Amino acid sequence: MTASIIDGKIIAAELRGRVAAEVARVKSEHGVTPGLAVVLVGSDPASEVYVRSKHKQTQEAGMASFEHKLPADVAQADLIALVQKLNADPTVHGILVQLPLPKGLDTDAVVNAIDPAKDVDGLHPTNAGRLASGMPALSPCTPLGCIILTKSVHTSLEGMDAIVIGRSNLVGRPLVQLLLNENATVTIAHSKSRDLAKLCAQADLVYAAVGRPEMVRGDWIKPGATVIDVGINRLPGAEGKTRLVGDVAYQEALKTAGAITPVPGGVGQMTVACLLVNTLRAACAIQKLEAPAV
Ligand code: NDP
Repeated sequence: MTASIIDGKIIAAELRGRVAAEVARVKSEHGVTPGLAVVLVGSDPASEVYVRSKHKQTQEAGMASFEHKLPADVAQADLIALVQKLNADPTVHGILVQLPLPKGLDTDAVVNAIDPAKDVDGLHPTNAGRLASGMPALSPCTPLGCIILTKSVHTSLEGMDAIVIGRSNLVGRPLVQLLLNENATVTIAHSKSRDLAKLCAQADLVYAAVGRPEMVRGDWIKPGATVIDVGINRLPGAEGKTRLVGDVAYQEALKTAGAITPVPGGVGQMTVACLLVNTLRAACAIQKLEAPAV
């Protein structure tokens, strides 16, 4: 058996298309242009690539895109003052401060300064708490993308056994909450978990969000399971280039899984598309319009 490939590129493009259609409708029916502000502090090359891609995709969806670049040695108070200015700006419906921040800046204080209604990264404790309480919330983009990819294979996740490996605030924890909302039965694994292979072998749905190249082996996967690989690990490749690999040993897992996301071309594609979804949702909620159909 060879697993079917879950094509994040195609699914993300379809999602961006639905967002663009809803943005056009909200603009024409209500005169509202959803706006996303991205704050980049310093010049981390990976962060610069992400910010460029967010800017391009935001504009392509018909939204307003505002970029704010600050030097790595910006004072904490000045960064917070910018966030507060964006909180008060009626043309901005979503605020994303690109993480990680340079050393010396207090990430929690910056995230906590964002108006929860504009927190399109879903990292503010208000949104994390609402999500954990089963209330409507802006949820982190990567876990949202994982759910959409899973639902491209299974229309309902009800009663399925899922394992989430990793418990970060950015990926693992919110993903667990979203899976519970889908009525899956969830096991949460982390660096102190015993016998990961055995835990994985029971799961219909495997989510790997660890940051360890190819840690999840093919023989850990239950035959026919759906595997969503969140990991992005940069390894040295041929001719001095970088090679991206996931947290799952892809070639091995292809032989046992029923469906699997590749790296690259899987979850990574969904993260920015879901950021657009969150910005549109935030704009509609702030303007008291009905929730968009995306
Ligand atoms: P973190 O480093 O914040 O969290 C890693 C998690 O993995 C922790 O909960 C840790 O456990 C757990 N872990 C570490 N080692 C092991 C182990 N040996 N066995 C089981 N669990 C282990 O990472 P993130 O959640 O931010 O990211 C995870 C991966 O996803 C990374 O590769 C990252 O690059 C990628 N990523 C991809 C995105 C995308 O758009 N595709 C977006 C965000 C992240 P403990 O809590 O006990 O320390």
